[in-house]
Amino acid sequence: MKPKIAFFDFASCEGCQLAVLNCEDILLDLLNLVDIVEFREAISEKAPRYDVAFVEGSINREKDAVRLREIRARSRVLVALGACACGGNVQARSNALPPVENYDRVYGKDARNRVQVDNEFWPYWTHARVQPIGDVVDVDYYLRGCPIAPGEFAHLVKSLIVGAIPSFPANAVCVECKENGNECVFDHGDTCMGQITWGGCGAVCVNNGYRCDGCRGLLPHANVDAHRALLAERELSPSDIHNRYGLFLSAQTRGKEARV
Ligand code: SF4
Ligand code: SF4
Ligand code: SF4
Repeated sequence: MKPKIAFFDFASCEGCQLAVLNCEDILLDLLNLVDIVEFREAISEKAPRYDVAFVEGSINREKDAVRLREIRARSRVLVALGACACGGNVQARSNALPPVENYDRVYGKDARNRVQVDNEFWPYWTHARVQPIGDVVDVDYYLRGCPIAPGEFAHLVKSLIVGAIPSFPANAVCVECKENGNECVFDHGDTCMGQITWGGCGAVCVNNGYRCDGCRGLLPHANVDAHRALLAERELSPSDIHNRYGLFLSAQTRGKEARV
């Protein structure tokens, strides 16, 4: 019997599911090896149980947490698909703000006088917390990145099919960056999050002339204090450093810095 695979989404842009659909070179081969039984972006079927559930998006509402627990109960293996599910991503920045201030920043200060606040679609009003899925249920594997690296998706699925344990080494982005022969952006006046960020993306942003902003999340043993000190040495203000850490890493570094 082919393993049953399902995809689910919560608060996200659905870009990681799109990244899966864009794996054209491997998708047809995979379809011969697995049964995709739920995938809202591609099919309308539903199934009661799954061998592997891929979950995209962060958890923002209690009703989402309930649905996630139900998915967990029906899944043998559960995989966090992308930075929103793995670490809360950019939406977790709202955790640092009181709900009222957050609302005002998004819609403008007088918006509450003009429109009725909808608790269904503005959960921050009553539930001021964005959570990675690992805060709600046990997660077996993490596919990091915004969006995921297609090669890691293929590696995970193939490993699970043959009964092997997939490997995602905890190396910094710098390792792949150096392997690619890139000149470090620190050498020409910019700064970077690569030293404290979990690699696996092939340092794609640096390869293409930018820096790493940390979308794959914090390494388990990252020396955050030293990295912050380095950014300060390079004349980033406390507010700049806060924003660099806040972009993708706010859920992982919350409580470890002053609010700016
Ligand atoms: S991790 Fe990025 S690409 Fe993936 S769903 Fe979240 S916002 Fe979209
Ligand atoms: S550019 Fe960034 S990722 Fe590359 S070596 Fe320098 S700090 Fe590391
Ligand atoms: S280089 Fe950094 S920001 Fe770019 S994909 Fe890799 S981890 Fe994400």
